[in-house]
Amino acid sequence: MTTLTVTEPIIDARNHIFLFDEAAGRYLDRTTRPSAAVQNRMRTDLGGKGAGLVLMSASGVNVPPGFTIDTEMCRLYYANGGKLPDDFFDVVLEKLSVVEQRLGRKLGDPANPLFVSVRSGAKVSMPGMMDTVLNLGQNDTTVLALAAETGNERFAWDCYRRFIQMYGDVVLGIAKDHFGEILDEVKSRAGVKQDYELSVAALQEVVARYKALYIKVVNAEFPGDVQTQLRTTIEAVFKSWNTERAVKYRKLKDIDHALGTAVTVQSMVFGNMDERSATGVCFTRNPSTGENVFYGEYLVNAQGEDVVAGTRTPNPIAKLGDEMPEVYEELLETRTRLEQFFGDMQDIEFTIQQGRLFILQTRNGARTIASAVRVAVELVREGLISENDAVRRVDASQLDQLLLPSFDAAQVEAARKAGRLLGKGLAASPGAAQGRIVFNPDEAVDLAEAGEKVILVRIETCPDDIHGMHAARGVVTGRGGMTSHAAVVARGMGTPCVSGCEELVIDLVQGTIQARGHLLRKGDELSIDGATGEIFVGALPTREADLPSDYQTLLSWADAVRVLKVRTNADTPEDAARARAFGAEGIGLVRTEHMFFEEARLPVVQAMILADSLAGREAELAKLLPMQREDFIGLFRVMDGLPVTIRLLDPPLHEFLPKWKDLYAEVFALRAQGESHELHEKEALLARVEALHEVNPMMGLRGCRLGLLYPEVNVMQVRAIFEAAIAVQQEGVEVYPEIMIPLVGHVLELRTARKVLEQVAQSVMDEAGVHVPYKFGTMIEVPRAALIAKQLAADAEFFSFGTNDLTQLTCGLSRDDASSFLRPYQDGVEGLNGERTQILTQDPFVVLDRDGVGVLMRLAVMSGRAARSGMKIGICGEHGGEPNSIAFAAELGLDYVSCSPYRTGVARLAAAQAQLLLEERQVQEAFDRR
Ligand code: ADP
Ligand code: MG
Ligand code: MG
Repeated sequence: MTTLTVTEPIIDARNHIFLFDEAAGRYLDRTTRPSAAVQNRMRTDLGGKGAGLVLMSASGVNVPPGFTIDTEMCRLYYANGGKLPDDFFDVVLEKLSVVEQRLGRKLGDPANPLFVSVRSGAKVSMPGMMDTVLNLGQNDTTVLALAAETGNERFAWDCYRRFIQMYGDVVLGIAKDHFGEILDEVKSRAGVKQDYELSVAALQEVVARYKALYIKVVNAEFPGDVQTQLRTTIEAVFKSWNTERAVKYRKLKDIDHALGTAVTVQSMVFGNMDERSATGVCFTRNPSTGENVFYGEYLVNAQGEDVVAGTRTPNPIAKLGDEMPEVYEELLETRTRLEQFFGDMQDIEFTIQQGRLFILQTRNGARTIASAVRVAVELVREGLISENDAVRRVDASQLDQLLLPSFDAAQVEAARKAGRLLGKGLAASPGAAQGRIVFNPDEAVDLAEAGEKVILVRIETCPDDIHGMHAARGVVTGRGGMTSHAAVVARGMGTPCVSGCEELVIDLVQGTIQARGHLLRKGDELSIDGATGEIFVGALPTREADLPSDYQTLLSWADAVRVLKVRTNADTPEDAARARAFGAEGIGLVRTEHMFFEEARLPVVQAMILADSLAGREAELAKLLPMQREDFIGLFRVMDGLPVTIRLLDPPLHEFLPKWKDLYAEVFALRAQGESHELHEKEALLARVEALHEVNPMMGLRGCRLGLLYPEVNVMQVRAIFEAAIAVQQEGVEVYPEIMIPLVGHVLELRTARKVLEQVAQSVMDEAGVHVPYKFGTMIEVPRAALIAKQLAADAEFFSFGTNDLTQLTCGLSRDDASSFLRPYQDGVEGLNGERTQILTQDPFVVLDRDGVGVLMRLAVMSGRAARSGMKIGICGEHGGEPNSIAFAAELGLDYVSCSPYRTGVARLAAAQAQLLLEERQVQEAFDRR
């Protein structure tokens, strides 16, 4: 066989040679890295694989010659109802002849035959979804030529039978099993185990029987005509773009159906020619840790997918250094060259033919988030990419995974094999946890205090369960979605959570869980993985995350870029300290009601609610005052020098009282025992609960409405805030309280509340004779507030978007009730003729709804700042930690986002990425105007 050399012959059907970099204004040479725009354009036109081949050959790597038919042809094929243009195949043959001339061989030539592969490849990788055919050009004549040329008859006949099989499968849809049966039968009769042990005669028999199979199954002869082979195979690859599984996959991955696939026709190199031939796959660095070590596997005397097929165990790549030292040297050199050319970790497929190395594919390697961070940082240190490139490259939304403990992958696999998988629910809050099952939040607290690790299992959770969730290592619920109470709160706390695991039969009374043939009781060990949603019986060991220094480095680069500040939502000094360590620049939301739920305080809070006079309420509030003051002192100390936004009491009062159902049952039982003091107390409580009952508490007496009817509660809170501020100021702590009034919808609500509270603030400061710098502001969480933002700005020194409530009220979606239809909305609802419509692509409680809620926000920002120039505006609420929503905040020119402590890093990186994108867009716009 003549040697194969490559210069620049990968071309597309329109005869474009995509080696001109428009952005750079020059042709690519072996050292120029094409701009991202050029790479993107190439991938759109030539598919990821085709683009990779062109670029590789431009970089000087050894690639077998061939050409790529662009994705436009695929679109044309479908636009014409599955027909290719009349002159299409003539163009293909013309391009083929360029390759033939270069190699001095011809497809189907009886003396000097060329063989090609026909490879699919879309812009976005769709692994295993579309087809590739190898060894095309084989027939009764060329097989003999190949045998004669290589002096290896066995090899030639093996290629032939492989081709008949692949062609039959891909082009004619003959099930692989039919071929497998024949092969197995011949092998067993010959008494051999491996394909490569078959004799020439046996392989010839296989070929004959394969051909007979064609007649039997599709009533057609195997086509010996090589042009027919080529034409039908190319068409089959176009067809494979729209197979049911490919369409399904694209839906799942949100890939555009209109992209189409490219087809690469490429001269074959044979890794199965002899013992000096091989095929393999490798990563230029470790894809799971990012360590800069060469990583991969290969098989001697093998072709194509043999490595991944798992029939023979491949060798680790390092062994190639012993077996074929020169080839290995070249592979190492290629590894460096490709990384330098693409500026990223590569995933490479290669083949060695009789001691010569060929590269068949390269792409940016898929990697874990840990690997992504390390690779990005090290590439900067190696001078391959800029700091901003590194910032752009890492998926911000995954960054919080680095902070969480994890299970060892091998242990998980073993547990699965051993049948210890108890169930699979929603991956609601990432991280791995193990501990003993408890069903009751109080017990969770007791056991945790006794030093036990516990997993709290509930049907669903509610605000009363928070102490138990705090104490637990992990939380499992039988019902509820990704935005259920359990999921939201667990994410906020950074506690692993699997929610909505409906296959678990949870019996809270008996204290049992049943699923998949297991019966577990309170106290049994359970392991949960909040990143996958899997729940295992027994304890799987977890590893604590130690924050890699690369993480800090990457975020320091992000900080240098971003304009948007990142604050945190924290109610306790511990959370605040953690967030500060993660880089938070203030607190954007302290929810004061969490402080009321604490065990020691709840009875006082309840007594306050039950009191029937102002004096009675004030007496109870006086007991709460010192406790609240301590809360704020703790927070202010930790946040020394940074702003702390405190939201006054928000939820409806009945949330602090026992449930009507439980109370009713108690009263019922007590009545049966006759009159008692306890009965009277419970009856009074029941009456109050009934009086406070609301049909729709979300829109009831809560937020500022509560504070207007019972101002004494707010008065106590503001006093506590200012007394605390003064106390810490005297210790030398810098304090900047920002007091936030929730759920305002009318300007007089704000003005009235503020007047009262400023009087309190002033009198506390006057009493102490000191001044504390402070601000009064409001949340924008009722649509009307956004509409009257101009009026509100006269009385508010800052705005904070409460995007959860704003989404609920703008969209008319109750966060607690929407799970029943939000899922189907995203999966698609079925119309009458079976047509599915996806109403929403994203959960609006997860990703901010720019088209609806976003319009209100834009209006509020514009009119608020028109009335009060330079007004400070931020977002608190779950969206503040979600990259897409953060990008929107940056676009709106907000001052900050506020998110849960564990999302701080995510937000810092996402804010920087948003800034880079904005700047790129500005440059582009300036360019377009020229
Ligand atoms: P996939 O998208 O499934 O990876 P490919 O087009 O990359 O499909 O082909 C699969 C494998 O077939 C490649 O990894 C390579 O080993 C082999 N292959 C493809 N084209 C050739 C060729 N021209 N010569 C030798 N082997 C090839
Ligand atoms: Mg491949
Ligand atoms: Mg709210």
